[in-house]
Amino acid sequence: MAAKIPFVRDMDFEYETAQRVSPLIRRLVANNPGPFTFRGTGVYIVGHGDVAIIDPGPDNEEHIDAVLRAVEGERVTHILVTHRHMDHSPAAHPLAARTGAKVYASTIPPKPSDCDALRLEASDDHLFTPDLNVEDGQRFAGPGWTIEAVFTPGHTTNHMAYALLEENALFPGDHIMGWSTTVIGPPDGDMTAYLASLEKVRDRNFSTIWPTHGPPITDNPSAFVQAFIDHRIERENQIVAQLRAGKTQIKDMVAVIYADVDKRLHPAACHSVLAHMIRLVELGRVECMGGPPCVDSMYALRD
Ligand SMILES: [Zn+2]
Repeated sequence: MAAKIPFVRDMDFEYETAQRVSPLIRRLVANNPGPFTFRGTGVYIVGHGDVAIIDPGPDNEEHIDAVLRAVEGERVTHILVTHRHMDHSPAAHPLAARTGAKVYASTIPPKPSDCDALRLEASDDHLFTPDLNVEDGQRFAGPGWTIEAVFTPGHTTNHMAYALLEENALFPGDHIMGWSTTVIGPPDGDMTAYLASLEKVRDRNFSTIWPTHGPPITDNPSAFVQAFIDHRIERENQIVAQLRAGKTQIKDMVAVIYADVDKRLHPAACHSVLAHMIRLVELGRVECMGGPPCVDSMYALRD
């Protein structure tokens, strides 16, 4: 039986208009809806007077003007970036140039690819480099607000979430989405790191999770996160069952496991199974015949 993830998708908003969503948080949704961004990038503004901006979004004039309008008369002290994908980071430096704020993100470089990588997500913002590095546990503060960096690798090697301590809330970037599962695409996506990062967030017992895409998760966020863990463990068990049944190639496993999914999505599914396979190889449960684990490699169970 499939593990149930209690997805949340209803969202009341107007594009490019800041909306107060909690005492300390305003959200402005960029007008960039799509298959990976859902309704668009949710840009969060934290505090009043002196404010931090989390994931400023795409670099287009209309959007940047909207963010600047939202913080008119205020001082932007920090621009915090969760990861360098095109729907999250490109507006950071243009906004910094116009507000005087500094741009913060992890400087850990993305993992290079051993095999042909398939582009699964909003593409990388290759040119992005922060002004200042962020480390796990680092704190940023303004009047009435304290933000703590929570290192959450998995979706990308350098993914950083941000916790707003006064509201026991988390801005998880793309690590957790309320409307969908997160893409874990090797080589930069890492399933083992992703699962550990889910456990880390689960154990913090946040009251609210504010994903970049879609509405907040307010109803028992830790149980929601656990459902994502269960979903991945279930997928891993399906892959092991396929190996046990004698399948050696990812594409043949996908044909069975994703039989009820549109065939056009099977290449993406192959990459998701590869993320699991790399983890199983790392755990020593699976052997990859010759070369590094790739989509076209041959695999066998060790036990
Ligand atoms: Zn992303």
